[in-house]
Amino acid sequence: MAEQAVPGHNRWHPDIPPVVAIDPGGSYRIECKEWTDEQITNSDSADDITSVNLDKCHMLSGPFAVNGAQPGDILVVDILDMGPFPEHEWGYTGIFAKDNGGGFLCDHFPDSAKAVWDLEGIYCTSRHLPGVRFAGLSHPGLLGCAPSHDLLAEWNRRETALVEANPDRITGDPASVSQDPPLALLPLEKDALLGTLPPDHHARVAGEAARTVPPRDHGGNVDIKNLSKGTRIYFPVYVEDALFSIGDLHFSQGDGEITFCGAIEMPGYIDLGFDLIKGGVAKYGLDAANPHGNPVFVPGPVEPRYNRYLMFEGICVEDGRNYYMDATVAYRRACLNAIEYLKCALGYTGEQAYLLLGAAPIEGRIGGIVDIPNCAVTVGIPLEILDRDILPG
Ligand code: ZN
Repeated sequence: MAEQAVPGHNRWHPDIPPVVAIDPGGSYRIECKEWTDEQITNSDSADDITSVNLDKCHMLSGPFAVNGAQPGDILVVDILDMGPFPEHEWGYTGIFAKDNGGGFLCDHFPDSAKAVWDLEGIYCTSRHLPGVRFAGLSHPGLLGCAPSHDLLAEWNRRETALVEANPDRITGDPASVSQDPPLALLPLEKDALLGTLPPDHHARVAGEAARTVPPRDHGGNVDIKNLSKGTRIYFPVYVEDALFSIGDLHFSQGDGEITFCGAIEMPGYIDLGFDLIKGGVAKYGLDAANPHGNPVFVPGPVEPRYNRYLMFEGICVEDGRNYYMDATVAYRRACLNAIEYLKCALGYTGEQAYLLLGAAPIEGRIGGIVDIPNCAVTVGIPLEILDRDILPG
């Protein structure tokens, strides 16, 4: 991306100049790099995942200036179509090593692993996960409008407070006290790509610019699998011309994207329609509960139809300790229960089962979250994606 005539960017900052101006009412094809800027290869080794440079991530296309957009407007974005490039019909799912990225189950699976998927029209298969074939519910992982300077300062304030409250985990560096990943990633000048920003502004902007890893008020890296074709998303606008960016296209993903890079990651194209609702943020209360609001969306009408699921339950009890209403712990237990079952039913390794849960269209749900002290969470695997019956019997 850095070698392109008009490069994109891998940080959030309102001073990153737009690459092009677009009109509300129009639709446009946008091409996206894969989120690591294509550091991962179509191979049987996970060495590229082990050594991946995450400081370059996520590689985004944009920002796109939307003519006429003002702070307080809603930017309406329609996802009209998307797909891989014809010359690149493959993607991958990665388990990231605990000391370089980590993942939802990194205490159980500390080493890297990879599954490469072949994409054939709407379907995918992997030579690394035999017995599985499914239709992708394709979606972008990361999209949103640039923050205002005030909103960016707020992100940096609250994320710095989180990091400083846990000093043992500040760096994730092997020399630090703890080997655990840091709790948040603060601005980092190294490998910051800031589009066409003039060099004399680079150090200041890179020192303030937010990393792209978490979802935030504006949307960002939400990794919601249901932002699929046909979805309409309503984004709050914070700066003049909105400065919308997008990237991290996924051929498919399970709820939670649990292996960290749990989706089927791919470069590709996405067709978007844009419109504006003037003054919409106040009109529809998108700033009511929170001074900065969050996007809302209507999922698209086109998605794979699966009728039968094997659902795994989890509660917030782990290693003999009872947590209080902790849906994260409960989801982890549900996923670990699913992995143990798939190891038995499919003859998979734990890593293979974990990769499948990350990539396939699994459904994560909150059952009860009121019955003290335990919440009940489920994860469901669509049975039609497997080539054999795995039910008890
Ligand atoms: Zn992704």
